[in-house]
Amino acid sequence: MQIHSDISELRAVLRILRATDDRSTPRSVGFVPTMGALHAGHRSLVQAARQRCDIVVLSIFVNPTQFVPNEDFGRYPRTLEQDCQMLEAEGVDVVFTPTSETMYPSGASTFVDVEGVSGRLDGASRPGHFRGVATVVAKLFHIVQPDLSFFGQKDAAQVAVLRKMVRELDFPLELIVCPTVRESDGLAMSSRNRYLSTEERRQALTLSRALQLAEMQVARGEHHASALLQIMRATLQEEPAIRVDYIAVVDPETLLPIDDVGAGALLAVATYIGNTRLIDNVLLASAPGNTSVSGKKKS
Ligand code: AMP
Repeated sequence: MQIHSDISELRAVLRILRATDDRSTPRSVGFVPTMGALHAGHRSLVQAARQRCDIVVLSIFVNPTQFVPNEDFGRYPRTLEQDCQMLEAEGVDVVFTPTSETMYPSGASTFVDVEGVSGRLDGASRPGHFRGVATVVAKLFHIVQPDLSFFGQKDAAQVAVLRKMVRELDFPLELIVCPTVRESDGLAMSSRNRYLSTEERRQALTLSRALQLAEMQVARGEHHASALLQIMRATLQEEPAIRVDYIAVVDPETLLPIDDVGAGALLAVATYIGNTRLIDNVLLASAPGNTSVSGKKKS
């Protein structure tokens, strides 16, 4: 496994790895962008990439532009050595670990703004967050030039923003969305779970429970978003220590509220437990959210 921090060096290595001996179709590159502090959720993306692509590239970069003021940028967990051990065991070919100066040279003032959708759900409570995400992912796509890039359904709003960006900026790649990986008790895995005390860890289970209860109501025939919102709200209120940021029933593509979930929907919650912001969601059946999207132009 190679580890590179320099853009030109990474590009040179990928040029060599991509080339085949007989100059036929180049080897395919699968890319997994992360902020490190890796867990089994990240591992599932690597495994999906390993299955589908010849070369697997993963980036670790705690992107300053996606943190809003007073968030946890400074104390975000950085565990490079352990991360690399996991990646080596999973057969990753190249790890890209740029510095902030490499990604944002002094004076950099170019940003990617996916308007509309970037101001919804997490984008509403974290203004500028998705501009930071779209900018860094666009830059990483230009640097790595993957054929497929892998993201987690856990960050459903991020998926909506990046799908739109890939489509509208004609990135020649396919975006693959993988299911949320959970702990055995249902808690969605997250690098931020390590901030939780034992008591907060117990309270955090309420997120997945609220979603599960709403999902069960849908299975019993409930299609009204208002009823599902009510169930989720009531469940989250059972834990007074939880501060709700949002509870939403939305179209997974536009992130706009919907009234009837019959044709599929995204149920999403975001909360603060202590100082830790946690998100979770479920995608209801027949929603067009768990497939892939391509910016590739049809010829
Ligand atoms: P992060 O390092 O938190 O920026 O996440 C990097 C990628 O891993 C993103 O595409 C996330 O959606 C994905 N991811 C994070 N947690 C999970 C999880 N529990 N299951 C699946 N994917 C995840």
